[in-house]
Amino acid sequence: MQGWENRVVTDSRIDVDAVVVGAGFAGLYAQYRLRQLGLTLQGYEAAGGVGGTWWWNRYPGARCDVESMDYCYSFSPELEQEWTWSERYATQPEILRYANHVAERFDLCRDIQFETRVTAATWDESAQRWDIATDRGDRVSAQFCIMATGCLSAAKEPEIDGIDSFRGPTFHTGRWPHEPVDLGGLRVGVIGTGSSGIQSIPLIAREAAHVTVFQRTPNFTMPAKNAPLDPEAVKERKARAAEIRQAMRESRAGVIVPMPEHSALAVDPEARAAKYDTAWECGTLYGMVAAFTDLLVDRDANETAAEYVRSRIREIVNDPEIAELLSPRGHPFGTKRPCLDSDYYATYNRDDVSLVDVRATPIVEITADGIRTTDDHYELDAIVFATGFDAMTGPLLGPAITGVGGLRLRDKWSAGPRTYLGLATAGFPNLFIITGPGSPSVLVNMLVAIEQHVDWVADCIAYLREHDVAAIDATAEAEDAWVEHVNQVANLTLFPIANSWYVGANVPGKPRVFMPYIGGLPRYTDVIDGVAADDYRGFELVPTRAPAPEPSALPR
Ligand code: NAP
Repeated sequence: MQGWENRVVTDSRIDVDAVVVGAGFAGLYAQYRLRQLGLTLQGYEAAGGVGGTWWWNRYPGARCDVESMDYCYSFSPELEQEWTWSERYATQPEILRYANHVAERFDLCRDIQFETRVTAATWDESAQRWDIATDRGDRVSAQFCIMATGCLSAAKEPEIDGIDSFRGPTFHTGRWPHEPVDLGGLRVGVIGTGSSGIQSIPLIAREAAHVTVFQRTPNFTMPAKNAPLDPEAVKERKARAAEIRQAMRESRAGVIVPMPEHSALAVDPEARAAKYDTAWECGTLYGMVAAFTDLLVDRDANETAAEYVRSRIREIVNDPEIAELLSPRGHPFGTKRPCLDSDYYATYNRDDVSLVDVRATPIVEITADGIRTTDDHYELDAIVFATGFDAMTGPLLGPAITGVGGLRLRDKWSAGPRTYLGLATAGFPNLFIITGPGSPSVLVNMLVAIEQHVDWVADCIAYLREHDVAAIDATAEAEDAWVEHVNQVANLTLFPIANSWYVGANVPGKPRVFMPYIGGLPRYTDVIDGVAADDYRGFELVPTRAPAPEPSALPR
């Protein structure tokens, strides 16, 4: 637990203006903005401290793959000036220190109760308020409920027979222990080669006696080129902070990336290779994707980027068979989230690292002392599950949320999430989602998306109060039109082809829907700002009822 004094709620129900669920970057900023409006708040956070994803993901090598100076708040120019990042890509401990610093500096934990999970939220139609319950027996009534629960916060263990029979320790990258984990001298199995696996495998390999990586799908990853930040560059950047922040908000992905001009198929092979060389060396997530205009919409153009990455893998990895196993061929480049790494491919040149292709020889079971595939049994002392998350909808469908007329969110979203603007869902008045499905969220710099959403919600609540509105609910028509637009835009791209967590493919039984909005920030900003300027077009606003007259004032 953090050292702050938190408001601990007793058994009796309390009334507040808003409940904020989550104390990651979204929840903290929501505390800040809503308090500024004079609202009474109650925050709940399942973790023992602030930081959200950065509180939970403590695995070796965990760091952000958006540059530190872009992956931080912009709401306070003073904060931006006084905080100095040490590396181009910050490590998890440094980001967590930043989250704690922000919380302390703005006194944001005053109303947050930690180690408390919201289990249910029920719309009380007569009171026009949310009735919220927690796993610690709290009951709270709130006019507004803000779901700042994150997009990648519901860790997903693999469904593998015998998972509980393993005698040694098991770890999930998204739920890494807080006490030091010593893998020294152990035979470690790692299942999963997404961002978490790709970041952690090189570090685990340095410590363990032997690492066996169980790979189902090879991923595209590029070198991060991480380095300490140059103090002069930091100074220069801080001097231009306001201008850069504005440009980030106006950019397509919340980070400044030079926009491409040409199709990958319109330039000759040498020019194309030169462009990819520059992108590869620049060490950013977006460099390769933004090298040409059509990489995410044209299969042939995309293949040029994919083949370029494969050629780099062949250069780095000594054993041609391993290089081929590591080469993605089943999905277009960029359609599963690409990764940034430090020494990932080179790690496979070590004698103490082996790669098992579990697409060719699937895992059959976890045994007391290892992992059995259709081909072999691998003896292990510890297993790391780098198997990802029930993304975007998992954190929202965890609590039992019940809206107008007893409608359950789980039922409403049984065929996939349906939102208006990714901010609200019809039939659930006064429930706001921060970076929800149907918004750019995970496709852009999350910090930019979070500030945009929290600002929009805070402005909306201020408007409702000014206009004596008790409840705001998206209309079914506006929601249907938005969902259709989100799908249409996604279907113009190659993204829906890939079996990614963007479409829920990593969770057996999850409906296959491309969840984030891929139209880009500028277009999205125009839409949501236009909706607000148009008195919340597409929402139904329910006026506050006049208070019941005093009995003495009733006509006799
Ligand atoms: P992920 O990208 O979903 O990767 C999970 C991996 O586990 C995949 O390789 C998946 O294979 C494999 N897997 C899952 N179940 C399996 C099973 N039963 N048997 C074998 N393999 C299995 O998860 P993640 O790596 O935790 O990353 C999730 C997202 O979090 C990232 O895309 C990124 O947005 C974010 N993240 C960011 C950072 C960063 O900023 N640096 C770091 C970590 C995570 P398949 O591909 O075949 O399903």
